[in-house]
Amino acid sequence: MHVLILGGTTEARRLAELLAGVAGTRVTSSLAGRVAAPRLPPGEVRVGGFGGAGGLADWLREHRVDALIDATHPFAGTISFNAAAAAAATHVPLLALRRSGWVAEPGDDWHMVDSLDQAARVLPALGERVFLTTGRMGLAAFAGRGLDRLWFLVRSVDAPEPPCPARMEVLLDRGPFSLDGERELLRRHRIDVVVTKDSGGAATSPKLVAAREAGVPVVVVRRPAHPGGVAVVGRPEAAVDWVRLLRG
Ligand code: NAP
Repeated sequence: MHVLILGGTTEARRLAELLAGVAGTRVTSSLAGRVAAPRLPPGEVRVGGFGGAGGLADWLREHRVDALIDATHPFAGTISFNAAAAAAATHVPLLALRRSGWVAEPGDDWHMVDSLDQAARVLPALGERVFLTTGRMGLAAFAGRGLDRLWFLVRSVDAPEPPCPARMEVLLDRGPFSLDGERELLRRHRIDVVVTKDSGGAATSPKLVAAREAGVPVVVVRRPAHPGGVAVVGRPEAAVDWVRLLRG
């Protein structure tokens, strides 16, 4: 049974590890190729776009894929719609493995927004020293003249490219991050506002706890829409169960 995992997340890698131990299952993980030196999962790996939903459907047919698992990041909106369209066109069963979003707790000062642009608009009223954890893509939203007064600590896996905020320091790092590390980072850089996507998961959530403890507001970008009619599980183990059920 050939399973294609659309990956780029911790959960996708974990799923590939788990499926490697299921006899009679061949696993291919697909990465977009955004990260220069990605952590590779076990099994076969292919890198790069498919060329839209049609290209993905062709790939599914050519490589005789029996099951498709969309384990991409909750903010990777396009590929999830492409997966739904390609699965429908080829009649390949599709499952989405998507972690739940974060939930605010007592003491949190969250400001929910719909986009990075909207995050940039609310920032000046909240603070001046910004910890920006939304990744290196989309930094243009924070490059506007109206934000020249703000200073940004930008954390990303690979170095960002212009346009970038006028005043910024780049911290190249990738999760998981520890609570002690996040506390220290907020303190050392005198951060007074944090910006994050609602990525969910434990690997990057300690910044939310550190912000709560320090009384620092957090601008949280809501998730984009996902295709309807697709079964969703939240944990890699549940995706393995789904594969086992399909095999019968
Ligand atoms: P996106 O906007 O949904 O996708 C843009 C295009 O990239 C897709 O149309 C597809 O190209 C290609 N693509 C995306 N994921 C792919 C995959 N797993 N394998 C092959 N091609 C893929 O995605 P994105 O937000 O740019 O994210 C790209 C990748 O980074 C995703 O795999 C995601 O899991 C990972 N990631 C994203 C974020 C985030 O915040 N967006 C955070 C962490 C990790 P074609 O149309 O040519 O097939």
